Amino acid sequence: MPGLPVIDQSKCNCCGLCVNICTRGALKIEGNTVKAVPVEDPDWCTMCELVCPTGAITCPFEIIIDEDGN
Ligand code: SF4
Ligand code: SF4
Repeated sequence: MPGLPVIDQSKCNCCGLCVNICTRGALKIEGNTVKAVPVEDPDWCTMCELVCPTGAITCPFEIIIDEDGN
């Protein structure tokens, strides 16, 4: 599904920072891994990527701003 962050499990230490900062509940810890799950109202804020201490999570989607700045 487009719009989900990508998590490199080999880099993830399961600290939970991304889960805690996500306001949409789009990230969940299952066992010893973090997973991105589709949500109805995703917010492409990229905060999960910014907060990750190991660079394990990346947001490959782009935020496109149109001519009117919307
Ligand atoms: S980009 Fe924002 S809304 Fe989407 S998973 Fe990351 S923290 Fe959550
Ligand atoms: S912040 Fe990074 S290292 Fe921590 S659980 Fe999320 S993806 Fe893994």
